[in-house]
Amino acid sequence: MAADPSAQRPGTPPPRLRPHTRRQPWILTYHSVTDTGDDPYGITVSPRRLGEQLSWLRGRGLRGVGVSELMRAHAAGRRGLVGLTFDDGYADFLQEALPVLRVHGCTATVFVLPGRPGGVNEWDPLGPRKPLLTLEEIRRVAGAGMEVGSHGLLHQDLTELSDEELRHETVRSRELIGELTGVLPEGFCYPYGTFDRRVSAAVGSAGYGYGCALAPGPLISRFALPRTHVSQADRGVRLWAKDLRHGLRHGAVPGAGSRSGSPARAGGPR
Ligand SMILES: [Zn+2]
Repeated sequence: MAADPSAQRPGTPPPRLRPHTRRQPWILTYHSVTDTGDDPYGITVSPRRLGEQLSWLRGRGLRGVGVSELMRAHAAGRRGLVGLTFDDGYADFLQEALPVLRVHGCTATVFVLPGRPGGVNEWDPLGPRKPLLTLEEIRRVAGAGMEVGSHGLLHQDLTELSDEELRHETVRSRELIGELTGVLPEGFCYPYGTFDRRVSAAVGSAGYGYGCALAPGPLISRFALPRTHVSQADRGVRLWAKDLRHGLRHGAVPGAGSRSGSPARAGGPR
């Protein structure tokens, strides 16, 4: 159902000319930050390009923060923030992304896989294999002031799991991250962006405060936050177009999803 009565009223100009003032905050999705030479899934952005993108955001009055901070600020009516998320917990976050974030005064949410510490992205059938954060490195990410969230234990399509397996992926990953960082994570991110009502309900039951999707469509809610995938190709004009598109699509208030029970799966990466 439509949630924002001011949106798309016939005869009135588009309401999202200043997208960062929208009611649905903007959250960007990154994965790996390193050299982009071999990148069949388009999940890698170079450190230099990340810096350019953060500069572009700052030029528009937006500073990158983790999703928990973004949600709190948004609820308090504070604007001028954009969510930065890094999925899969690639080890390059510490060496490549973190220094760039610091230069730009940003923080971020890193969604890690505590069931694959020090492993690789085996779930991608094509290479290249990219190392994942070890347990000690996850601790360092938290110690650096970043929000650590859960991407489940093993990067599985949660809609295909039994209730018991689903509970293990959500509850156990939360416990493990809590043991590592001393803070039970507030955020969960659906592997592949895939979820349905059963999965998002399990995330809520596990104690998380929000869930990140990619393109949740009508299932949009606090447990299915839309995000925008950012690629190496995204520079000023392309980012502006993505910002505007997000504002037009997701001006709705979180929690106003439809009753559709079909899984939402993004066509984009991972
Ligand atoms: Zn992922």
